Amino acid sequence: MITEPIVRASTITVWLTQAGADVRARGDYLTQLDAAIGDGDHGINMTRGFDAVDKALAGQGDGVLPGRLLILAGKTLVSTVGGASGPLWGSALRRAGRALGDVEQFDGPQLALALDAAIDAIVELGAAAPGDKTMVDALVPASRALHAELDAGSSLDQALAAAAQAALEGAEATVPMQARKGRASYLGERSIGHQDPGATSAAIILAALARSVGESG
Ligand code: ADP
Ligand code: MG
Repeated sequence: MITEPIVRASTITVWLTQAGADVRARGDYLTQLDAAIGDGDHGINMTRGFDAVDKALAGQGDGVLPGRLLILAGKTLVSTVGGASGPLWGSALRRAGRALGDVEQFDGPQLALALDAAIDAIVELGAAAPGDKTMVDALVPASRALHAELDAGSSLDQALAAAAQAALEGAEATVPMQARKGRASYLGERSIGHQDPGATSAAIILAALARSVGESG
């Protein structure tokens, strides 16, 4: 019998650490994307936030619940990131953590519900719809792919790989869009032809999630 990977607190720590490392490694690229249609700080913002998340997580002992780690990471992002992405990702992680409640470990369908809770928080705060050229354009296709794969009986590894791929394609699909939310919307039609930085970092973060769950399963 194949044992399905289960997500634990340690998986969350590995994911957030890996996401931080990947965001840091791609920080210049994210900042360049933001320089084209925003104010050129997205890589700096996300790196600062994940640096602080690393420190906050390092202070957590064994036995901490995965939901608590997500709430802690979310609070940390809200309090350390000045740009729009801080409160948006911070609310997302806090809401995902609350959705998980007090479970010690969880499976694919619960992970999909936590992702949906995260997206709901982002939409409540930022009011972006798909097609507005934001992180939502990476996250919504990822959620759709995750649910579709799980419903079709795919393993969590496969489902998350598909979700990460959908996020990447969603980020790339922002290029021809005109921004209707956030700083890039001030550019109007001039925002067309550039990839959204927040959708790009969202795809990086979901790719890290797929790898982290794959490794810990
Ligand atoms: P700022 O725009 O304040 O400088 P960042 O550069 O860190 O913040 O983040 C910009 C990214 O935030 C955008 O590329 C976009 O994906 C995302 N974003 C901005 N506003 C919204 C919103 N209202 N809803 C969802 N995402 C948004
Ligand atoms: Mg910016």
